[in-house]
Amino acid sequence: MLAANLPNMARDVREGRIGGKGTIIGKPHRQPMKLCPICKGMWSFQTVFKAEKMEEVVCTECLEHLSQGETACLYDDPHTDQHHFAFITLKGQPDLAGQMVKVPLHVMDELHKRMSKKLHEKPQAPENPS
Ligand SMILES: [Zn+2]
Repeated sequence: MLAANLPNMARDVREGRIGGKGTIIGKPHRQPMKLCPICKGMWSFQTVFKAEKMEEVVCTECLEHLSQGETACLYDDPHTDQHHFAFITLKGQPDLAGQMVKVPLHVMDELHKRMSKKLHEKPQAPENPS
C-alpha cells in the first residue's frame, strides 16, 4: 500500500506552493478518511492539506457478509502490491465465522478458481424469454 501511495505523495509535494516565508503550503485536496481492510473500499471524503492517515473500518457491504457468518480471506501480494479478498463459509469452524483471516497465495488462488467456476455454472438466461 505504501509503495502505491508514493507517486501520489511526490506529486502532492510538487503541486504544493512555496509560501511567503519559504514554507511549503500543501494544496488542499480531497481524500477518503475511511478504508475497508477487506475490499479496500474508501469513503468519507474530506478536504485535507496533507495526507491524513485513513481509519480502517469494515464497510457495510463487507459487514453484511461477516454478519452472515462468512469468513473474509485476505491476501496481499508483496510483489505487485495487489490486495485479494474472498468471502467463504467455513463449515465446522464456527470460531472463524465473521472473522478476517490472512491466507497464503495458493489458498487465495484456489478460492478464486472456485468462485469463477461458480460463475460459469450459473444457468444461462434463455435467449428468447417469450
Ligand atoms: Zn469492504
